[in-house]
Amino acid sequence: MRLLLVEDDRMIAESVRKGLRQEGFAVDWAQDGRAAELLLQSENFDLLLLDLGLPRKDGLEVLRALRSQNNPLPVMILTARDAVADRVKGLNAGADDYLVKPFDFDELVARIHALLRRQAGRGDPLIRYGPLILNPITHETLFNGAPLALSARELALLEAFLDRPGAVLSIAYLQEKMYGLDDDVGSNTVEVYIHALRKKLGSGFIRNVRGVGYMVPRLP
Ligand code: CA
Repeated sequence: MRLLLVEDDRMIAESVRKGLRQEGFAVDWAQDGRAAELLLQSENFDLLLLDLGLPRKDGLEVLRALRSQNNPLPVMILTARDAVADRVKGLNAGADDYLVKPFDFDELVARIHALLRRQAGRGDPLIRYGPLILNPITHETLFNGAPLALSARELALLEAFLDRPGAVLSIAYLQEKMYGLDDDVGSNTVEVYIHALRKKLGSGFIRNVRGVGYMVPRLP
């Protein structure tokens, strides 16, 4: 899952970003409203974490512009503006959630997972797919009832597939889900991780659609 964090306070941004990466998210960071808009136009994110008091363009304006394009991206406002009127204004401008600084990091992570769950149309906090049960919060994975050890990248890749069973996903799309812009992709390409998942889950688990990409089939 890939998040965009828009925050002009470097200390807050760095600590939130570091923590979210440890939780297995790919995180990009924009320091002002205009930089955020450029990234939103060029990249695909699963969720936006948006400060309100931002240089160059206020967070509320960024949010209003996004929603005026009918973009349904989940948005959580992270701000020190704690008046009820501000919270109401933020939610009415199209935010899905609103967290007041200083916030507890565990609560931020729990709210992110709640929004992603809703976005995926899932009520169950666990992701179930045939013999596979994945807990996106604790990263515990069971396969045929037995614990399965997956690396953070393997988990990110598996989640991208299980989010859209039946859809053929391109390498570029999968890479976007796994890496932020300044993550070191290195020599371990998406194909290497697909190979690793197939070894752990069976060769037929992820199917290759020649010339297009990869998919896990929709279960009957
Ligand atoms: Ca700010």
